[in-house]
Amino acid sequence: MTDNRFANQSIQCNVTSCKYHNKEKNYCSLDVIKVDTNEPHPTDYTSTCCDSFAPKSV
Ligand code: SF4
Repeated sequence: MTDNRFANQSIQCNVTSCKYHNKEKNYCSLDVIKVDTNEPHPTDYTSTCCDSFAPKSV
């Protein structure tokens, strides 16, 4: 079970649709995340993404 009451003060996040998002504090609740890219040569922040994202169940 996911406990997203924890707020990792090192990972700010606005992705409210992620099940790891702490909506009270706008932080990630995981200890660590993986950031990746889906482009061969990323050039700016829009080329990166959080690979640890998981959708909230509805
Ligand atoms: S796993 Fe990624 S997208 Fe989800 S709350 Fe944490 S930083 Fe945000």
